[in-house]
Amino acid sequence: MEEEMVNFVHKLLPLPRIEESRDVLCVLPHPDDGELGAGGTVARLKSLGAKVTYALVTGGGAGIRGKSREEAREIRKREQEKAAEILGIDEIRWLGYPDGGEYDVKDVRRDVDSLLEEIEPDLVVTVDPFLLYEMHPDHRICGTAVGQALLLDVESPPPVAFFFTAHPNQFVCVSEHWETKMKAIFTHESQFDRSTAKLIEEYFEAKGRLYGRKSGCEYAEGFKVLLPVTLHAFEEAMWV
Ligand SMILES: [Zn+2]
Repeated sequence: MEEEMVNFVHKLLPLPRIEESRDVLCVLPHPDDGELGAGGTVARLKSLGAKVTYALVTGGGAGIRGKSREEAREIRKREQEKAAEILGIDEIRWLGYPDGGEYDVKDVRRDVDSLLEEIEPDLVVTVDPFLLYEMHPDHRICGTAVGQALLLDVESPPPVAFFFTAHPNQFVCVSEHWETKMKAIFTHESQFDRSTAKLIEEYFEAKGRLYGRKSGCEYAEGFKVLLPVTLHAFEEAMWV
C-alpha cells in the first residue's frame, strides 16, 4: 500500500486514542480472552476513570477436559468474575451462546445491537476476526458480529479496537498494570496447566516488551483501531 495514501487517510480520518474512551464495551468470545488480549488496557482505562462492561458471547463450556459443559461453564464463570474483579470491570453480561460456534453471526449481532443501544459506549473492544489462520469459530463470529453491528445497525457507532491482531496500529502503555494483567490471566486456573502457564507468561512478556519498546515504555498492548466507516470497501484498512 502506498505510504502517501495511508498518511492521507490518517489526516482525513484521525483515529481516537483508546485511553480517551470513557465508556467501553468489550465483546469477548470466551472467559479469559479479555485478560489475555487487553487486560492491561482495561486496567489502565479503569485507572483513568472509564466504565468498562464485559459481554461474554459464550461461557467457555467446551474449555475443560473431563468436565461436562455445565460444570465447565460454572467454573469458568467464577474464574471470569474473579478476573473481572481484579481488573475493576463494572459489569459482566453473559450472552449464553454455546462454546464451539454452533450459532449464527446474526444472533450475536442482534445482541450487540441491543448492548450498543443501551450502553452507548464510546469504544468497542473485541477480537480481530481476520487474524490469519484463526480457526476458532467463536472468535470469528464474535469479531464479525461486532463489525457488522457497527457498520450496519446503529446510528452513531463508536470506533472499534480489535485485539489478537496481526496489524496493530495503536499501542497502549500498561507497565503499571502488567502484574494485574498477569494475575487476572492466571485466575483462569482451569485453562492453564503449569507448562501452558509458563508458555503464556513468556509469550506475553516478550510481546508486551516488544510493543512497549515501540511506544517508549516497558510494557504495551497492541490494537487495530478502526472507525466504523472504514469497515466496508476500504482498501487501506489493513495498513492504516
Ligand atoms: Zn477465546
